Amino acid sequence: MRVLVTGGAGYIGSVSVELLVEAGHEVTVLDDLSTGHRGAVSARAKLEVGTYGDTAAVTTLLEKNRIEAILHCAAKSIVGESMTDPGKYFRENVGGGVALLEAMRATKVRRIVFSSTAATYGMPERTPIVEADPVRPINAYGETKRIVESAIGWYCRAYGLRSVILRYFNVAGATVEHGEMHVPETHLIPALLEAVAEGRQATIFGDDYPTPDGTCIRDYIHVEDLALAHLKALEATAHNDKRTGPSSGPTEALICNLGNGKGFSNRQVVRAVEAATGRSLGVKIGPRRPGDPPILVASADKANEVLGWKPRLGSLDEMIGSAWAWKQSHPSGYR
Ligand code: UDP
Repeated sequence: MRVLVTGGAGYIGSVSVELLVEAGHEVTVLDDLSTGHRGAVSARAKLEVGTYGDTAAVTTLLEKNRIEAILHCAAKSIVGESMTDPGKYFRENVGGGVALLEAMRATKVRRIVFSSTAATYGMPERTPIVEADPVRPINAYGETKRIVESAIGWYCRAYGLRSVILRYFNVAGATVEHGEMHVPETHLIPALLEAVAEGRQATIFGDDYPTPDGTCIRDYIHVEDLALAHLKALEATAHNDKRTGPSSGPTEALICNLGNGKGFSNRQVVRAVEAATGRSLGVKIGPRRPGDPPILVASADKANEVLGWKPRLGSLDEMIGSAWAWKQSHPSGYR
């Protein structure tokens, strides 16, 4: 299939592109390289540098490349930044998301898989979280994703889009070719690995949460498992696939959590990083980070039942080990 991957030069996008081209798909990447890296785009994919927020430009691109389906990974995605600069998140994620949907409407490209997030759930009432649980984000990032989910829902009803919305929990790990590289590094595992590599202290944001060791608990999923879920989700958007609705008329988005169903505290992650790298890590406890729910753990039963997806690389050791191996083989990232 001819697929457009927005954000295909980013961490999750680049691994998804790697697996898509390996599976024989024809991939065009649209990325403005604001946080992505040219060097992260597979040589077997075509890179278009630009924004997904320009309806006219995206319309042209969809037509020119005869795109059949879109994997929309591009977004601003840092929780802390979304709390201090929400405008950037609403402009890019919401404004851009609607602009992309408009380009789909103009070109009658109906298939979309959308990267959403566990941050849409806010403070969950129960663990593990199921898709039908209330979505009440407590940070601006999660709110922007919730709004785009909702927009996709209305486009499904009005224009019969065929869509899968994937709510990722915490993504970690690397393939041999592609890993995580942000400047600055804000996510826990790469931030800890960077601290190990540079021999400096790391900070844990808060140890007074209502959890057994006082630090936040998250559900980690290997980026390669996530990319496999993207492939399965794209297949589910096919015209005659009942999972994304009837072949004509209004449809409904298929929403699936992607997680492992297991939670690890920030302190447990620190210990796993020490075990995987064989180095000890100096850690200090800092204040809580605004917008952080104490516990986010997924029920991934629906993804298993409906998409036939199951995480294969589910251990923290596999995730941290592969991320560390990539970091060592790419000491300057993609530069
Ligand atoms: N975290 C931390 N120190 C860091 C980075 C993150 O203690 O240097 C914590 C963060 O407060 C949260 C957890 O690690 O409790 C996971 O945060 P991350 O940014 O990796 O992912 P999020 O859950 O926000 O998507």
